[in-house]
Amino acid sequence: QQGGLLTPAKLTRPQEWLDSVDVIIFDCDGVIWRGDSVIPGVPETLERLRALGKKVFFVTNNSTKSRKGYKKKFDSLGLDVKPEEIFSSSFAAAAYLEQKKFKETGKKVYVIGEVGIEEELDLIGVPWVGGTKDAGKVVELKPGYAMPVDEDVGAVVVGFDRHFNYHKIQYAQLCIAELGAEFIATNLDAVTHLTDAQEWAGNGSMVGAIKGCTKREPTVVGKPSALMIDYLAEKLGVPRQRMAMVGDRLDTDILFGQRNGLKSLLTLSGVTTLDKVNSPQNSIRPEHYVDSIADFFPQSTA
Ligand code: PLP
Ligand code: CA
Repeated sequence: QQGGLLTPAKLTRPQEWLDSVDVIIFDCDGVIWRGDSVIPGVPETLERLRALGKKVFFVTNNSTKSRKGYKKKFDSLGLDVKPEEIFSSSFAAAAYLEQKKFKETGKKVYVIGEVGIEEELDLIGVPWVGGTKDAGKVVELKPGYAMPVDEDVGAVVVGFDRHFNYHKIQYAQLCIAELGAEFIATNLDAVTHLTDAQEWAGNGSMVGAIKGCTKREPTVVGKPSALMIDYLAEKLGVPRQRMAMVGDRLDTDILFGQRNGLKSLLTLSGVTTLDKVNSPQNSIRPEHYVDSIADFFPQSTA
């Protein structure tokens, strides 16, 4: 205990921990891979978990790829994963719209983001505008100019977008404030590790711009929202105490596990250091941590 806060302990009996769960939900970046490289020992670890009969799922807040896009990434890293085992925040946005029967409204989605969101919307047959088509648009101001908007937009989905621009901010602002479109954010990650060299502004910055001009709060569909867990818990019929979330980030993964009644395990193979976990400023404390998920089966890392 540290000022009333739990001090997480290293997982010294992985077998016992594994016996206590049936479903393991893995965060991706910092757990399975770092950027484009698989973390050593992960392929063998996943195989052994499957051999033990554990159900494994992969949840990523990175909306730039669809499930199909992530399937390709898993393949390229030599990991045999089914598309149904992948939950990206791009898929979560589409799943949320389906749950709300958005298609039946006959409305469209205005997309801020990359192809991941577009592909997932195409798959559920929801029409969209904006997205990659609005890359490079510059707003030219003339006296009396008003930006035209598609009156049929009923929702704005904001995901990570390397072509974010003022045109998109204004379009989203008009959709949300003028047309009353729902404001949906794939995730709120403040920074991400696009490269190993530094931290990069994450989707929190794009969402922040839209919040700033609309004064509205978005519905967040990625971690730490309950949406994916509700979806999985219902589909699998497994009690939440038998499910675990394994991630490298406190404010998304560990909070996601804790808020949803799952066991949560921190791995130090990504963005979080032990010093950060134990700092008095941090109140999100997992019970246990591992250096890498390869520690589940110590002999497999040799
Ligand atoms: N968003 C973007 C744009 C990213 O590049 C990343 C990680 O690379 C993330 C979010 C976080 O992904 P994850 O939830 O898999 O850690
Ligand atoms: Ca991560």
